[in-house]
Amino acid sequence: MKNKILLLIAAFAAIFNIQAQSADDTKVILITLDGFRWQELFTGADSLLVGNKDYVHEVDMLKEAFWKDTPAERRVALMPFFWNQVEKMGQIHGNRNLGSKVNLTNSMWFSYPGYNEILTGTADDARIRSNDKMQNPNTTILERFNNTSEGKGKVAAFGSWDVFPFIVNEKRSGVPVNAGFEVATGDLTEKEQFLNELQDQIPSPWGSVRLDAFTHHYALEHMKKEHPKLVFISYGETDDFAHDGDYQAYLKSAHNTDALIKDLWEFTQQDDYYKDQTVFMITTDHGRGTQPLDTWRGHGRDVKGAGQVWFVTFGKDVEAMGEVKQDEQLYSNQFAPTILKILGQPIPKEIKGTPLK
Ligand SMILES: [Zn+2]
Repeated sequence: MKNKILLLIAAFAAIFNIQAQSADDTKVILITLDGFRWQELFTGADSLLVGNKDYVHEVDMLKEAFWKDTPAERRVALMPFFWNQVEKMGQIHGNRNLGSKVNLTNSMWFSYPGYNEILTGTADDARIRSNDKMQNPNTTILERFNNTSEGKGKVAAFGSWDVFPFIVNEKRSGVPVNAGFEVATGDLTEKEQFLNELQDQIPSPWGSVRLDAFTHHYALEHMKKEHPKLVFISYGETDDFAHDGDYQAYLKSAHNTDALIKDLWEFTQQDDYYKDQTVFMITTDHGRGTQPLDTWRGHGRDVKGAGQVWFVTFGKDVEAMGEVKQDEQLYSNQFAPTILKILGQPIPKEIKGTPLK
């Protein structure tokens, strides 16, 4: 009898242990599209910009690709992965036309303060007031997770913008960051060697931001090789093409990024480590203007609407709500604590945002 009870206890312990392990096995991929407006995400190409010769070189070509009769068709044309697949399996928040709102809580409405808020869960208007290459005094969730036994060496960040090593405070946090024009280092795969070569040979239009294909493939190769549990990937082209006033390139870049995210999703679903265990969370660091029309190029506290953002999530245990069509108010400081919760980590008191359900 005593033996039987012991056996039963052992069996229960084994079951609970398996359950605990599977909860701890969740992986998170956090992705940002720099300065991509909710307006294009939810309604596709903008009628005031798509045929506007001030912002588009090849109007016919752009309209052929992205102009359709209705906003619903236009958004599918622009972001087919989001609107054909993610809408069925996940959640798309931020369509203000339907009452779903997502806002920044920082009042700066440009990149460093936006990424600081997304990655730490707390806006810091007192200290994060420029895009200068300043070591972040705040602690990101990448650093927090890297400082736990489960997360040690299982975190990585990739960005197109060369300020990310500072935002993540790579030095202090020990989180590896590949950003700007950095190459892959260490024991390189053939693809990484080729990417390193190409990055020199395909010049970026900008001084501090590389083309997103490099960021994407460095991240993907690292995931195949090292299997990090928490990955941050920041695509940057949309913001820079918008500042350039090039609406054609802005749309093509958004369309391409949609396909890159599909590529990541498909990789995770055929990889044993990530399959059915991975949550995707996608957002942007700030919005942009709409009126006057030229403010679509800019953002910052003087640009009306630049604090309006959006949020997309899908993957393990994410309820399939589709496009959210009811009144709600989410904030960008909620993503960091939500990720800690998903990873089974405590949420420190200094984090201002509250986790999403
Ligand atoms: Zn910008």
